[in-house]
Amino acid sequence: MADIIDGKAIAAELRQQIAADTQVLIDQNITPGLAVVLVGEDPASRVYVSMKEKACATAGIYSVEHKLPSETSEAILLELIDQLNSDEKIDGILVQLPLPGHIDEAKVLEAISPGKDVDGFHPYNVGRLLTGNPVFQPCTPFGIMKMLESIGVDLQGKDVVIVGRSNIVGKPVALMCLAEHATVTICHSRTVNLPQKVAAADVVIAAVGRPEMIKGDWIKKGAIVIDVGVNRVGDKKLVGDVDFVAACENAAAITPVPGGVGPMTITMLLYNTLVSAKRRAER
Ligand code: NDP
Repeated sequence: MADIIDGKAIAAELRQQIAADTQVLIDQNITPGLAVVLVGEDPASRVYVSMKEKACATAGIYSVEHKLPSETSEAILLELIDQLNSDEKIDGILVQLPLPGHIDEAKVLEAISPGKDVDGFHPYNVGRLLTGNPVFQPCTPFGIMKMLESIGVDLQGKDVVIVGRSNIVGKPVALMCLAEHATVTICHSRTVNLPQKVAAADVVIAAVGRPEMIKGDWIKKGAIVIDVGVNRVGDKKLVGDVDFVAACENAAAITPVPGGVGPMTITMLLYNTLVSAKRRAER
């Protein structure tokens, strides 16, 4: 039976350390500050933004929300980002995605100063991650790496199979695993023989967005399984991309959904904001 990787507990421990480090900065008159920009009324985005604000408050990080109506023009949004880029109290800027269709998402992300890009989505930061010299690492993949580290997984020489190639999870986590000397395979919707690919993995990272599509009998005995997927089935129930119950038979350790990767993502946002504020303190 697999060990359960308790993302909540790992995140709670990290958040305690972040709160302690934040206090040290506050004592030096530097309060880490995060600006969160939300355009429109998307209910899921609202929930995420309020979770982020609560987490900031608990850690002692100052956060300010800019709530803009869905009809906000791209020019107005870019103007706000410009102001935040030069606001001394702000160490991190997060634009909640998705943006309404009339706004060019790439243009907005590129307008954020790379030094305040705590989501790690600016092409400069993506490039720095690629070359192995990251400034800010994107939060979900960074959280996955912290989890693996905290349970003592050494990726050197391991076969890591990632299912999903998105810019926010699949591709960056592949680069991070590569930097830790894993041999990495990235699978996607056109991959042939997915079960065989997964069956060869020492570590499986699933970031697909399809409920329980990765079957338990695909998992190699003793593998580590990280399930990023969050899928709502029925009215309330959340499940991952992996058939959790069946995968527990083969895996050595596995993340649950919820309570696995989810809590790590916001934690790494706090972490990146703190790192940015530390850089301000050193200037
Ligand atoms: P995307 O929709 O951007 O990417 C999904 C990926 O899965 C694509 O690369 C796609 O392939 C691949 N895919 C789709 N169907 C199949 C299939 N049948 N076989 C193999 N690969 C397939 O998703 P995200 O990366 O944004 O998110 C993935 C999941 O993770 C979602 O459930 C999301 O909610 C969750 N998530 C959770 C977070 C957390 O903090 N817990 C944070 C971010 C995401 P192709 O490229 O060919 O289309």
